[in-house]
Amino acid sequence: MDKNKMLLKMFTNFAQNEIADLDMLIDKNHYIPDNLYEKILAYELLGLNVPKQYGGLDLPLELIAEIIEIIAKSNASVAVLLEGHIKTVYQLLRFGKPELLAEYMPQSLQSIFAFAMTEATGGSNPAYIRTKAERTVDNHWCLTGNKIMITNGGLADVYVVMAKRTDTNALDFFVVDKNMPGFAFTEQENFIGLRGVAVGGIALDHVKVPESHHLVAEQYDQLTIGDSAHADARVLMGAVLSGLQHHALIEVVTYTKKRMAGNQHLYDVPAIQRKITDIATGFRTTQLLYQKAAQLRDQQDSSYYEIATMAKAYGSRTAVKSGDDAMQSFGAYGFSADFPIEHLIRDARALEYAEGSVEKMRIEISNYEVNR
Ligand SMILES: Cc1cc2nc3c(=O)[nH]c(=O)nc-3n(C[C@H](O)[C@H](O)[C@H](O)COP(=O)(O)OP(=O)(O)OC[C@H]3O[C@@H](n4cnc5c(N)ncnc54)[C@H](O)[C@@H]3O)c2cc1C
Repeated sequence: MDKNKMLLKMFTNFAQNEIADLDMLIDKNHYIPDNLYEKILAYELLGLNVPKQYGGLDLPLELIAEIIEIIAKSNASVAVLLEGHIKTVYQLLRFGKPELLAEYMPQSLQSIFAFAMTEATGGSNPAYIRTKAERTVDNHWCLTGNKIMITNGGLADVYVVMAKRTDTNALDFFVVDKNMPGFAFTEQENFIGLRGVAVGGIALDHVKVPESHHLVAEQYDQLTIGDSAHADARVLMGAVLSGLQHHALIEVVTYTKKRMAGNQHLYDVPAIQRKITDIATGFRTTQLLYQKAAQLRDQQDSSYYEIATMAKAYGSRTAVKSGDDAMQSFGAYGFSADFPIEHLIRDARALEYAEGSVEKMRIEISNYEVNR
């Protein structure tokens, strides 16, 4: 067996043996248990995209996304926790200076990172960002403002933060960590889906960072780093949505094989067959989209942006519908919190906002096509 297949087998076993049984508990308790978190570290899942020189696994995105899908099939919250970390590490690798990488890459193997753009004044439009970055006389940056709804917010030790420069009004990104003076955690969101993921805020009160913590895009464009983070994240979110739909499919197939409708199995009822077909088609289409996007990104082909956006926009809507079809196939048991289906819908619904709302993604896809 080649090395990649062995890795996939190892993570499949890990997800099935260590995560799947905790799926309902994670949703109920709003929390990923500490001992599972320790296993995530032990399996080096935080180092999937970290270069070997810093001790990471340095895998291509195609393989990383497949691992994320495998994990999401067992529990989407664990997969999204990793997604938030991995996309942040990607931005540091792309836009960070060597001294920043030397400072933070070794830490990224052991502690969670997060990417913070959204503010209370609105997430869909970065023009309303109020967090300020002021250059100091000693060539540092002084950051002040509040961020909300950050995946891993409150759990992560390191944050890449979008702020408006007071000298140019440009939106730039800066790396802060939770131990810096002036840094504080704020409220956790009480979201109804992906309940195992900490989604919370941070407050920055004159947090001072050196110039090395300033991420600079090579081709200077205010939103390059934000767009790049979204594109990478959407590949991974496509993988999460594929895993979620696969989970729904397995639940429905297993249940309808056991359940009788009169003298026939439920899976033999044409109306249920149609739902199984729709769920399977949604799952496979989402999977094909994210896999194609990941391949293109690994080939450094920028057209992956559009396909990644499709994977998330299509996948999130389809995953909600797949959950709904699964719920109906279960009969009234599907409507019970004692069965996993209802939380699959809630989890999928969260991804119609995270990494760009589905409405904004549709605008982006249309713009790609019109401006091609
Ligand atoms: C689970 C989860 C995790 C998240 N993680 C992160 C994270 O890690 N980092 C981070 O920075 N943010 C994160 N977010 C926030 C997310 O990016 C925002 O929720 C999203 O950008 C939408 O912003 P908003 O909620 O402020 O909605 P608003 O911007 O207030 O928009 C409200 C509604 O109007 C629609 N809308 C707004 N403008 C337009 C327009 N021009 N055209 C069409 N429709 C429009 C939106 O699509 C939305 O449906 C997360 C959110 C969730 C739910």
